[in-house]
Amino acid sequence: MSHQVRKPIIIAGPCSAETEEQVLQTAAKVAGHSAIKAFRSGVWKPRSRPGSFEGAGDKALGWLQKVKKEYGLPLAVEVATPMHVEKALEAGIDYFWVGARTTSNPFSVQELTKSLKGLDVHIMVKNPVNPDLALWIGAIERIMKVTSGQVMAIHRGFYPYEQTPYRNIPKWEIPIELKTRMPEVPIICDPSHISGNRDLVGEVAQYALDLNFDGLMIETHIDPDNALSDANQQLEPAALLELLDNLQFREQNVNGSVQTALESFRNQIDSIDSQILELLAQRMETTRKIGEYKKYRNVAAFQLKRWKNIVRSRIETGSSLGLSQDFVKKMLQSVHKESIRIQSEIMKQKDKEKN
Ligand code: PEP
Ligand code: MN
Repeated sequence: MSHQVRKPIIIAGPCSAETEEQVLQTAAKVAGHSAIKAFRSGVWKPRSRPGSFEGAGDKALGWLQKVKKEYGLPLAVEVATPMHVEKALEAGIDYFWVGARTTSNPFSVQELTKSLKGLDVHIMVKNPVNPDLALWIGAIERIMKVTSGQVMAIHRGFYPYEQTPYRNIPKWEIPIELKTRMPEVPIICDPSHISGNRDLVGEVAQYALDLNFDGLMIETHIDPDNALSDANQQLEPAALLELLDNLQFREQNVNGSVQTALESFRNQIDSIDSQILELLAQRMETTRKIGEYKKYRNVAAFQLKRWKNIVRSRIETGSSLGLSQDFVKKMLQSVHKESIRIQSEIMKQKDKEKN
């Protein structure tokens, strides 16, 4: 079977199947849109904390079968254990996806492969929670070894340690690198889990299409505010249809390969620059907090000893990363100048408050 997807595939549906009505009503509203090629829904939900909604379980498979019967939409569900695969297969599920938490654990992926052996079904592998490309590739390889079906990747962003508007920071350079290393694996973007907030979903989806991703997986719920999981990021069906109608689908190359090497490098640079800016903003925010602290304790904004330590340790780290001393020093001076400016402003405010 070919590993190429010519047109972006759009998969839409709720984060979780909650009730039969919710599933069928959501499907009824989105089924008529020609771009939507499959209906997604979580049946067994991996939750970070116990006590959250863990999915409706097996009975939800019956609700999904009704979606397929009534609207002819192929179905996609998350599988995390061989038992999920068996049950989903019995229910005639067409696309399986491996969730971010499962991809993160090679033992779990290996266990899953036992039940996927010899199957000719579509399997999508989400990126692991952490930005670890080897782990993502490893999971894809493990699955490709045992299945003859189409294996795809889903980019759903990475757990952010830095301040960012996203629930999961996209780090576009990582899926781009995956595409470079495994050009035969189509990559779908999941703007819902990247955004974590419905207002951002459209722009992330468009960005993915501009990077020539092979498809999108988007969450939609009949009553998003009352959804039992991922309430903030799910779109009402009407909003999803509007979003899809506003997306610009770019021409893809006939062979499905999507970018020249130069474009790919430039996109990586864009993504890295935006992460640098987000980190700088976070640094300045912390500087502001230090300024507030100093203000009430009457500590000077500039402290020579601390500054010398910063320069020395950063130059050392920079050198070990292959950055020139001169460059690191200039960059630090510029960052430090801005920090001093911020703290001096805070001090001035204090003086004004006194007068
Ligand atoms: C989901 O798709 O609802 C889900 C749980 O996703 P992820 O594995 O990306 O967190
Ligand atoms: Mn979700």
